[in-house]
Amino acid sequence: MRGIRGRGAWSIVVAGLAVCGTEACARAAAEPPAHWTATKESRELVADPSLLARMFKALDAARSAGTDPIISKFNVRAATVIRHAGGEKTILGGNSEYRVPEAIHGETSLMNHVITEVGPEEAKREVGFIAFYGERCGGGGSCGDCRDYLLATTRWQDLLIVCGQATDHTVHVDRFAKGIVPEERFPEVPADGTGLTTAQLDALVEAALGARAGGIRLFTPPEDHLGVAILTTAGKVYRAAGADDAAFHYRYPLGAALQQAATERDYFVRAVVVAGDPGRTPRVSYRDRQYGYEFSSFNRKRGLAPIRLIVVDGTQGGARHYRATTFEDALPGAFSTADFMPEAVDKFLQTAPR
Ligand SMILES: [Zn+2]
Repeated sequence: MRGIRGRGAWSIVVAGLAVCGTEACARAAAEPPAHWTATKESRELVADPSLLARMFKALDAARSAGTDPIISKFNVRAATVIRHAGGEKTILGGNSEYRVPEAIHGETSLMNHVITEVGPEEAKREVGFIAFYGERCGGGGSCGDCRDYLLATTRWQDLLIVCGQATDHTVHVDRFAKGIVPEERFPEVPADGTGLTTAQLDALVEAALGARAGGIRLFTPPEDHLGVAILTTAGKVYRAAGADDAAFHYRYPLGAALQQAATERDYFVRAVVVAGDPGRTPRVSYRDRQYGYEFSSFNRKRGLAPIRLIVVDGTQGGARHYRATTFEDALPGAFSTADFMPEAVDKFLQTAPR
């Protein structure tokens, strides 16, 4: 899923969300193909005219992608055009929502359909862009979970994200990789550069390492099994480990720790420590970064500092090494509920203890 409103960092990248009632959607689908115009920056990024033509073709096709956003009412219409068997193949994706809220997102839907059509190897080789047809461009990037999925299923280093803006038929292209921040790019800091006292940091690291001994990893590789501990502004520590299951509905450790804090109405988090395999910098999934970003947006609402995200290499006994960043920096172009429904979040946080 993609945000409807950006938070500045990615001004040119693109929201794939359009809002239209049934009538407006039917009208859009009945209209003749649009005359798309790529922005100057986009033309510089897409030197190949045939690639640009495929992007325009995908945008025309995306207009009619079926969606079912019964909760948010935000349509995410996605498409790509790949070269296949001497010709071209157009493939669509769309978002669909259910219950609590859960959703299949537009870009996840699209890549799944590409894999269904041509298999995973050809999908990875041939998908060069994902195009979104939306009312407006200029918002946030994909959610954390979609970033995880696109990292796994595409040549993400070269993947382009295209937004066709329905209002003026301008086309905005940017690199998916702008939203990817490997852990090695989190700044290295000494213990006293983490923003925590020695006692607080030691307590969080011990809690995270202790958590990592638990959890459930029947399918998870050891290097992906993490323990997470969080410190709230109330001074409390919560911790969790990852847990997998047969349905592959993974319970992410950072999300789990934050959920425990929320259960106690302890909504404001100072710091998060993530610990993994001894001697190895833990990989923080983009899905977990999304959970952290959502909580950090609570901090912003209340004028508190962003949450510190600290990864520790997990070395036991020897010297530990730290890298520290924020979820804002670790998930560029992110969106949160605070962007979609600022008043609702304000009202919700009024009920939170100070
Ligand atoms: Zn998504």
